[in-house]
Amino acid sequence: MTGTTNSYILVTGGAGYIGSHTVVELINHGYNVVIVDNLSNSSYDAVSRVEYIVKKPVPFFNVDLRDSEKLGKVFEQYDISGVIHFAALKAVGESTHIPLKYYDNNVNGTIKLLETMAAHKVKTIVFSSSATVYGDVTRFKDMIPIPEHCPNDPTNPYGKTKYVIENILHDIYNADTTWKSAILRYFNPIGAHPSGLIGEDPLGIPNNLLPYLAQVAIGRREKLSIFGNDYDSHDGTPIRDYIHVVDLAKGHIAALEYLNNVTEGAGLFREWNLGTGKGSTVFDVYHAFCKAVGHELPYEVVGRRDGDVLDLTANATRANTELKWSAEKNIDDACRDLWKWTTDNPKGYAVAGYQWTTLAGTDGDYTSRVHTVTKDDLSVSFLNYGASIQKVEFKNQNLVCGLDTLDEYKSQDIYLGATVGRYANRIANGQFEINGETVKLDKNNGENSLHGGSNGFNKQNFLGPIVKRSADEENLILQFVLVDKAGANGFPGELIAAVEYTVGNDFVEVEYSATTDASGTPVNLTNHSYWNLAGNKSTIDGTQVKLATSKALEVDPNTLIPTGNVSTLDISNLDGKVDNCLIVRESSQINTSSESLVEVLEASHPDSTLVLRVETTEPSFQLYTGDYVDIPGKFGPRCGFCVEPGRLINAVNVEKWKQLVLLDNKSTYGSRTRYSFKLKN
Ligand code: NAD
Ligand code: UDP
Repeated sequence: MTGTTNSYILVTGGAGYIGSHTVVELINHGYNVVIVDNLSNSSYDAVSRVEYIVKKPVPFFNVDLRDSEKLGKVFEQYDISGVIHFAALKAVGESTHIPLKYYDNNVNGTIKLLETMAAHKVKTIVFSSSATVYGDVTRFKDMIPIPEHCPNDPTNPYGKTKYVIENILHDIYNADTTWKSAILRYFNPIGAHPSGLIGEDPLGIPNNLLPYLAQVAIGRREKLSIFGNDYDSHDGTPIRDYIHVVDLAKGHIAALEYLNNVTEGAGLFREWNLGTGKGSTVFDVYHAFCKAVGHELPYEVVGRRDGDVLDLTANATRANTELKWSAEKNIDDACRDLWKWTTDNPKGYAVAGYQWTTLAGTDGDYTSRVHTVTKDDLSVSFLNYGASIQKVEFKNQNLVCGLDTLDEYKSQDIYLGATVGRYANRIANGQFEINGETVKLDKNNGENSLHGGSNGFNKQNFLGPIVKRSADEENLILQFVLVDKAGANGFPGELIAAVEYTVGNDFVEVEYSATTDASGTPVNLTNHSYWNLAGNKSTIDGTQVKLATSKALEVDPNTLIPTGNVSTLDISNLDGKVDNCLIVRESSQINTSSESLVEVLEASHPDSTLVLRVETTEPSFQLYTGDYVDIPGKFGPRCGFCVEPGRLINAVNVEKWKQLVLLDNKSTYGSRTRYSFKLKN
């Protein structure tokens, strides 16, 4: 099976290092996935980045496996056909100090999981075991590379929990031979996803060789300690079987498919080693990583580490032949990918100056996250909902209208702070012609289609964000993405829309980009924040503005569609009603991002010391004084004004403007707008 049904694979520990990579591979192979993780050794950011990579939402539950009631609810809510069970505590050294915690979490957690599976008649499980169950294999003369039939003798509580769980699964199979259990014994997982978006994010001082070396390379640790160079290997350091985490992840798909192909009604209990079959010494790995980094890294040879043995290399023949799986990547690939992950995420998933929480009353609802970045005097908050701007606070003064709860956001229809798409502004009669055919759109504004239709981008949950620092470390960048399905609100073709916010110490810039699989589809993206510079006042009355242009599109007062004429509009304050499209420059490209920013508006209010400046690469902007706002108890008419840079109204139906908005599958749509803040001179 490659994900042909509506059933789900439950991934326990899916927010962790190996789990997150496996979820990506599962989804790439067409499986539906639901994740359960108590985040005891991981963060939700990993899940959010998995979603960004696969461009799909992935249901996630912050549940401890030992909480049978909550776990049972997940099984009730989803049609689960099989489980991949990663969730465990895994630090060998720690397990010798707190063995009970390890037995409770790993063994008891697995028992609760198995009970819940049995109660829901789910009998397929792929289990994360470890080469550690073999113990010190050098006690035998001829067991390296290690085959699956090598006797087990784990030497620490962690390894013993794996050994016990393997035995539990075997006993369950003996009692009911319709259970299907794949025991995967991993050797040394290393590396990261080639995108640099997910990887290993160890808490505290890393125990393992490569995570430690990566921290040396990034300057978080002084030097690597090499634990002994007096072993019987080509350079005196111990030999391990290092396997790229993406290869390892793919091994789980192979095992799952093997189980799914077991004869109907029959079961299976079988162990497979997942390794490359090739051993590398500590120095081999050290040199490979130095090569990836581009220079030598400091190290010191110290004494042997307790419990280390000369050689732990897998015999992976069984997995190669039965699962038809073998590792494809080598340690150079793993080191390159680890270095990308490390340089892109020097502190792992944490980013200084960034934090997220959830909107009021939605604890645990990860779709209602509020992402706040703080840079000197500026603090800006964003939502996944609509990739919206919720708050812009400069020198302690809030400058935009924002709401507190997701319900409030969902019930308003004024595009508050939201990304407007697929098509900002109006399309006359809700239709346009392409390739000689008429395409009909959702009409949500009288006869017209407005702001992308009744279920536009403002009502969608964007995926992400990926949060990082700019190359010069100065600014914070948040990237959201949305996959808008073909036919959504009537628009042809799938559209992948990316919204990237950059926050500096006195500005927030938004860059839009979009691609499609259609031969032609109209696109026009903008932001619909309601700005208010009057301090805490509920009205924008008194706001003074300087506009870069007085050229406005004349519109029919009834339909608000351009007549084709250009009128002159001199606006110096926002005391009257304004809802006009002002023309900044002639431009004839679908992608304006590479153009230079042009200042289109400066605004201030006598009651405040702050000035807002809006610059854009776009040919025009809609200026709107918020006269129709009505959010009872929150915001009324003229609570804020909108500056919406974009393409000219109804461009898709005007021959000379069409090329500004019609995107095809060979081009990328793009634009940039910057809102900056300063004190009055
Ligand atoms: P990890 O710590 O990154 O991932 C394990 C995840 O399980 C974490 O996200 C953690 O929060 C979660 N978890 C732990 N206990 C839980 C509980 N009671 N309920 C719900 N969630 C819980 O570790 P990893 O490196 O990704 O390892 C995954 C699995 O592979 C583990 O079972 C580990 O023992 C096994 N393994 C790992 C290695 C290795 O070197 N990384 C080697 C062999 C085997
Ligand atoms: N190692 C090392 N210095 C370190 C960490 C590990 O020399 O800081 C060596 C360790 O002795 C072993 C190999 O690197 O030979 C792999 O160790 P790791 O802890 O990564 O995995 P293990 O094989 O012990 O599970």
